[in-house]
Amino acid sequence: MKILVLGAGVVGTAAAYYLARDGHEVTVVERHSAVARGTSYSNAGLVSPGDATAWASPSALKMFIKSLYTPDLGIKVKLGLDPYFYAWSFRFLFQCTSARVRENTKAKLRLALYSRLCINEISSQAGIGYDERSRGIMYFFRSQQSLDHGAAMYGFLAEHGLDIEVVDRNRLVELEPGLAVARGIAGAVYSPMDQTGDSRLFVEALAAHAEHKLGAKFMFDTTVEDLIVEGDRVTGVKTSAGRLDADAVVIAMGPESGLLGRSKGVDLPVYPVKGYTATVTMDDPSKGPTMGGVDEDRMVAYSRLGDRLRLASTAEFTGFDRSHKPSDFTRLFETGMELFPGAFDPAKAELWAGLRPMMPGSVPVIGPARYKGLYLDTGHGHVGWTMACGSGKLLADLVAGRRPEIDPAGLTYKG
Ligand SMILES: Cc1cc2nc3c(=O)[nH]c(=O)nc-3n(C[C@H](O)[C@H](O)[C@H](O)COP(=O)(O)OP(=O)(O)OC[C@H]3O[C@@H](n4cnc5c(N)ncnc54)[C@H](O)[C@@H]3O)c2cc1C
Repeated sequence: MKILVLGAGVVGTAAAYYLARDGHEVTVVERHSAVARGTSYSNAGLVSPGDATAWASPSALKMFIKSLYTPDLGIKVKLGLDPYFYAWSFRFLFQCTSARVRENTKAKLRLALYSRLCINEISSQAGIGYDERSRGIMYFFRSQQSLDHGAAMYGFLAEHGLDIEVVDRNRLVELEPGLAVARGIAGAVYSPMDQTGDSRLFVEALAAHAEHKLGAKFMFDTTVEDLIVEGDRVTGVKTSAGRLDADAVVIAMGPESGLLGRSKGVDLPVYPVKGYTATVTMDDPSKGPTMGGVDEDRMVAYSRLGDRLRLASTAEFTGFDRSHKPSDFTRLFETGMELFPGAFDPAKAELWAGLRPMMPGSVPVIGPARYKGLYLDTGHGHVGWTMACGSGKLLADLVAGRRPEIDPAGLTYKG
């Protein structure tokens, strides 16, 4: 089949790889002049089934409301006039029950665990290096109360396939000597199955492999403007470079995914949730972390990418604004320097802001949708790097009419 994949982020590129591997004639259409220039450029770097818990939950609802009057919280909501934000929020509310959070989390965890196998298989088969580390991730807490709460939350993931170890401070330092001098840590949940790596490096290498070894084509500097629908079938797209015809079209446009099919009745409530990262080559790597980590009470995540440290934080509802200013990184650097004193100089960091493509239940949508020939692979939210490869494989199986290797329940289009 002739297939157009719209978007060259980690999700679109992984889908293109698997579709090309199946023998399809694949063209990836991307508005930027290179791959991984959207959200996949600089996330926290965590490949983390341990982070699969759905954001929409009874406690998220309380934080969402608190964020309206507490400026220093990791979650920020700027109320504006965007009707889609209110429509999205309404649907988010319905996902905040205990029953929904359990179902959403189980679907994400299943995909994330599968995806971890897929990413490792791809990188060894295609010989891709991406500053990866497989030492696990430390999710740590600053009080016994939050540790107890966190241990229960991670306990649910453990019931469904994730290995975890709840550790006190001594055991934490044994596993992660990089946190030996950090103050105020009560304990942690250690997830040895989690890993870390640079998604931009991964996507660049995977795209080159898909192009040179599997025959996929990449069309850059080309903006997709509309779907072409004829009867009950999508037959191509209108782009800034003219009309492109295809037997199948895959929407993998990250935070912009929901915009494309809106006028054609495709119900895809992906909303952008902004976050910030800072990446710095460490002056003294021996004072940095040896594995990825999440400061759960401060909502700061980090990874070690070679000799670089990547720090990430904040969930901000502010539409499609990708701008940033130095003060957006103050809390991030304060926490980073407190955890790893002497490891790095914030003045040398590359600063970045990007948008998580978030569904109300924070579960992605993968597979056929609304019209014959239309497929979705999007809405991966806060764990798109983690779930991209498994999503691409699942999508390719659904396109081929093969039985998927995981149960797609909860991950498919319901519009
Ligand atoms: C601060 C932060 C930290 C994060 N940390 C992690 C983490 O540690 N682990 C993890 O798993 N995930 C993390 N994520 C989430 C993860 O980065 C995303 O879920 C993932 O990158 C989404 O990939 P994508 O391919 O769907 O989107 P993108 O990477 O945004 O790719 C979409 C592509 O579509 C293109 N596009 C859009 N519109 C058009 C159009 N009209 N025409 C042509 N092209 C178009 C864009 O230019 C872009 O290249 C984080 C996100 C943020 C913001």
